[in-house]
Amino acid sequence: MINVALDGPGGAGKSTIARAVAAELGFIYVDTGALYRAVGLNALRHGIDTRNIDGIIKMLDETDVSLKFINGEQRVMLGDEDVSTDIRLPEASMAASNVSAIPAVRQFLFDLQRKIAAENNCLMDGRDIGTVVLPDADLKVFMTASPETRARRRYDELREKGENVRFEEVLDELNKRDYQDTHREIAPLKQADDAILLDTSDLSFDEVKEKLLIMIKEKANG
Ligand code: C5P
Repeated sequence: MINVALDGPGGAGKSTIARAVAAELGFIYVDTGALYRAVGLNALRHGIDTRNIDGIIKMLDETDVSLKFINGEQRVMLGDEDVSTDIRLPEASMAASNVSAIPAVRQFLFDLQRKIAAENNCLMDGRDIGTVVLPDADLKVFMTASPETRARRRYDELREKGENVRFEEVLDELNKRDYQDTHREIAPLKQADDAILLDTSDLSFDEVKEKLLIMIKEKANG
């Protein structure tokens, strides 16, 4: 199996690029942020404070998160319910970041991620894929961009979906989440020593896609 670890902060373009590259290669695209979002959403729905460690740990006993791939497209399931749309609500972002700092939550989602990677050629997108989940990945890429570029992309994405947000609000939330993700004690967002840094600030979608495709093909061809 060929496993590509793709890490970086929110809004760096990971999901859009990786989805396109995976489709072209016939790999699956695994968005691990969706798993943390599903746990965060479950807490919000049950009125559990996403920073309350004991409350979240208790909730995990009755939480069933899984991924389904329909025509190569990932769907996130909470029990039997497809929550792929609800996890994109802005409040689910911070909830995901909060629960993701709890070691028991990371442990809870670890095996699922490892299993998918063991069984599929995949591009796995997250924060700790190259450092923790798949330390032996065939290729590790750390994709980033300036905070303003990332906030602009996230803002355009949300606006397109009809969300009524302000740019400053999006930038502020992104900065807060990055800070929290980078400074947490467990599996912080960090470039793996053997990861290739890809700054997408001044690159077009096609340029980034091409770069990533070349890197993967080089690895795949030995
Ligand atoms: O990638 P996305 O923005 O959907 O991730 C939501 C949150 O989930 C991140 O801010 C981060 O706190 C957490 N996350 C993580 N580890 C991953 C993927 C996401 O901690 N591998």
